[in-house]
Amino acid sequence: VTTSSKGYSIFRDTIADMTWPAVEAAALAGEPLLIPIGVIEQHGLQLPLATDVYGAHVWSSLVKAELAKNGLPCQIAPPFYFGMTTSTAMFPGSVNVKPESMVAILTDILESYASWGFRRQFIINHHGDAHHLGAIVRVIELLRDQNISATYVLCGLRRDALDRGYQTTFAKPFPLTEAEVLNVLDSETTAAARERLTRSPHLDVHAGEGETSLIMRWAPDTLPTDVDHTLIEPAPESPRQFAEATPQGRWREISPLGHIGDPARASVENGDLYLFEAADIARAIAETLPFGPHRPACC
Ligand SMILES: [Zn+2]
Repeated sequence: VTTSSKGYSIFRDTIADMTWPAVEAAALAGEPLLIPIGVIEQHGLQLPLATDVYGAHVWSSLVKAELAKNGLPCQIAPPFYFGMTTSTAMFPGSVNVKPESMVAILTDILESYASWGFRRQFIINHHGDAHHLGAIVRVIELLRDQNISATYVLCGLRRDALDRGYQTTFAKPFPLTEAEVLNVLDSETTAAARERLTRSPHLDVHAGEGETSLIMRWAPDTLPTDVDHTLIEPAPESPRQFAEATPQGRWREISPLGHIGDPARASVENGDLYLFEAADIARAIAETLPFGPHRPACC
């Protein structure tokens, strides 16, 4: 038996590591299905291309564990990882597909899950490109026509980013209902952890303190051994420089290494944010399930 030198699998805890009868039983029991979505995209000098895929997978795994603690079983689909990386396309490592390609394949995949019985799906996405978001919204709209209930879980993003993404990509009014976009409220613990991350005067948009902490905490085997993140200078110089450069495709000029943020401030401890966020996501999902949030039988 040969194993990878890196001890990490994005199939861990997903249906891809199950047998078909186990999948059939879960689907027919009406269990919700979490759909982790990321992209393969440059993430600076210090992080793997799959950073967003790991982020979505980590959230999903932690949400599954949290729901299980409350007696609510769910399953996780194998992470989906080809999408649009418009703003980092000038770097090798950023895979770009057309919006219509992503819509077609993702719709086909989610329809496939639904045909086995998974008709309640929650999208856990870790990538903020406008076209990528637009494509996901379109997929949810198409699935609705087939009676498949897919919900976008707002982790780490605001609802208006989805709206803008859809309008940028398809030039039509935002089609999703309130119920199709799940708001996730921060607990006090999450808010405090987020506060720790936002003390840097620099933006934390991409491969900065947040994502570097994510990988240090949850997928450390994938970190390059020859890079010391504490020696990386923050970039760009100002939020304004970022705002001006991005629409013109000049990201690589304002940050030649590829990060938008301050990776030197990352820590394993800051990666715990994902744990806290997952508890909030699980609570939000549980409240939408037909049998409602779990309450202990005793009280
Ligand atoms: Zn990312």
